[in-house]
Amino acid sequence: MAIFCKEFMLLVVASFLIFCANGLEKFDHPIKSNGNLRFLVVGDWGRKGHYNQSAVALQMGRIGEELDIDFVVSTGDNFYSNGLTGVDDPNFLESFTNVYKAKSLQNQWYTVLGNHDYRGDAEAQLSSYLRKLDSRWICLRSFIINAEIAEIFMVDTTPFVNEYFVETEHTYDWRSVMPQKTYTENVLNDLKNALSESTAKWKIVVGHHAIRSVGHHGDTNELVDRLLPILRAYDVDLYMNGHDHCLEHISDTESGIQFLTSGAGSKAWRGDVKGLNREGMNFFYDGQGFMSVQLTQTHVQIEFYDVFGKVLHKWSRSKLLLHPII
Ligand SMILES: [Zn+2]
Repeated sequence: MAIFCKEFMLLVVASFLIFCANGLEKFDHPIKSNGNLRFLVVGDWGRKGHYNQSAVALQMGRIGEELDIDFVVSTGDNFYSNGLTGVDDPNFLESFTNVYKAKSLQNQWYTVLGNHDYRGDAEAQLSSYLRKLDSRWICLRSFIINAEIAEIFMVDTTPFVNEYFVETEHTYDWRSVMPQKTYTENVLNDLKNALSESTAKWKIVVGHHAIRSVGHHGDTNELVDRLLPILRAYDVDLYMNGHDHCLEHISDTESGIQFLTSGAGSKAWRGDVKGLNREGMNFFYDGQGFMSVQLTQTHVQIEFYDVFGKVLHKWSRSKLLLHPII
């Protein structure tokens, strides 16, 4: 793909154009003529339908139909417990294709990798072979979705977490990631360049790991130190992640960034929430569910749903309120 990038060649994949901007591949996803952009966000899901994955999928289908969604974003940990063993691993069909069967979910799925995905053959999930099995599947390490009024910057956060490089309990597929320092610096530089050139009304960044969370894993210090300053500097509106198997909404105390955790696609109810009184805390739910995002040029609305499709938390904001025109 690097050769294609250098030569600015266009590839047609699953009817979308891919091209390269600032080292990150970009997918153009045109929005509907009414100017609305709507999508669902789910994370930490691939368990062959178990742990309520199928129940969440059913409600995603229903809400997806109601909202007439444009696509789905997955925040990673796509296949438990150890990613895919290879491109022929039946877990892909059993946990993805055969679970998310609703009509409204037959749109593109834009997906990042989580730490559990790196415990298997990480490159299998990136393979175009999977797109042949199920054309919805788009998984890259870091990339951009250009949806006209919004740009969504997908960031590969697992290589930022130092403990994965020293722990001995699990093995990780670090092919194409080592050396860690060079890889992560390149990711951040690519992101900075892309954000600085973005003219989208809404800038959304997605990674697997939380920057702010009161769930089991809590804040990811490496991202607080290295990613958060970039999000603040370039006026990112929303940061979305999974990793903690819960739903949560925390507002940044030093900027307009909203931290949104949607990592409740299957196994949840961990029960070790901490710090619910922290500043900026808006919402926390320890059970299964997912999130929707609705955008227009001037308005954003977030909703969190439980396993029954019931709305648990709703938040909205006008861009004009954030950036008043004088
Ligand atoms: Zn995780």
